[in-house]
Amino acid sequence: MRFFSLAPGLQAFAAAILLIGSTPGFCRGAADSAPVSRTEIGLLGTTCTITVYGGGTDQAFDAAFRRIAEIEDGMTVTRDASEVIAVNRAAGVKPVRVSPDTFAVIARGLEFSRLGDGAFDITVGPLVRLWGIGTSAARVPAPREIRDAVARIGWRDVVLSPKESTVFLKRPGMALDLGAIAKGYAADEAARILREHGIANALINLGGNVLTVGAKPDGTPWRIGAQNPEQPRGTHIGIVETGPMAIVTSGSYERYFEVDGKRYHHILDTRTGFPVSNGLSAVMIVTADSMTADGYSTLVFALGLQKGRALVESSGGAIEALLITDRREIYLTAGLKKRFQLTDSQFTLKD
Ligand code: ADP
Ligand code: MG
Repeated sequence: MRFFSLAPGLQAFAAAILLIGSTPGFCRGAADSAPVSRTEIGLLGTTCTITVYGGGTDQAFDAAFRRIAEIEDGMTVTRDASEVIAVNRAAGVKPVRVSPDTFAVIARGLEFSRLGDGAFDITVGPLVRLWGIGTSAARVPAPREIRDAVARIGWRDVVLSPKESTVFLKRPGMALDLGAIAKGYAADEAARILREHGIANALINLGGNVLTVGAKPDGTPWRIGAQNPEQPRGTHIGIVETGPMAIVTSGSYERYFEVDGKRYHHILDTRTGFPVSNGLSAVMIVTADSMTADGYSTLVFALGLQKGRALVESSGGAIEALLITDRREIYLTAGLKKRFQLTDSQFTLKD
């Protein structure tokens, strides 16, 4: 685990693990509005920090973190038991009843899967398990194993019954993996809990999934660092200034392993069965809610520069994106152009 300090005035990194003690540059306001933060390491398999500006109580922090843990308990695939594991175990056998949370995330995941025509697919589970990226079992699988895992993928074979709140995977051997969207949902829910506790200004950072709640009390915009895909976590290539928004990044540097000098990362191509290789190194999404940002960051990364950008632009400004290629080019959608400040001259802004 590494810890980083922040550049002056920078509140957070999207796609970086860091701890925020206090915020440099925060100076206006009474002492009682100084930011208070709590960090939990290991939750959602990452480092989660909530920072509250003015009036953060133990109760509010407890409730928000409890909610995140509850969501993780339902959706994880890395433990012995969860609702998603139960659904996977019953693949080809029977529908399984799940909580409204898990049902909602699976339903949304299927929307993203449809949008990307399967490039994003929440039934990618067998392939994720096979590669084991991010675990001690990571390895390059044999071609036959890859073909077998790819054959098990298929979001069209997920049957949802809203009335019964059940999920059924039609074919044996299918498996859901909600790793691309669960953190986003957890961030949205943590924000809702904070608001219920009367908190108007906060910053939620779930392992780089950043969600800002309300405005910064001093009236200046939130400043979120865009991770340099080639440098250690906490090194930024630029800064996005924003109002209350979700900022989520997917990148090939997030989780990976190396064999013979070749890097294998954790966003998988559902057609080839190998890590996505399309010239993108990172995609940052800025939009109102964190689940949309999380889903789109993975989806746009999988779709690639042209298709991904076109999809984001079809949202008419509701969703903004920053795309970074492995040639150090940065592409911004229209709404981000005036809110992004490049700080690393090794990268070039393109039109
Ligand atoms: P991070 O987990 O680093 O925040 P993402 O939100 O981009 O990154 O999600 C990556 C995770 O999504 C992977 O670890 C895996 O669980 C899952 N995943 C990998 N490839 C795909 C895909 N093609 N479609 C949907 N989910 C995927
Ligand atoms: Mg994602």
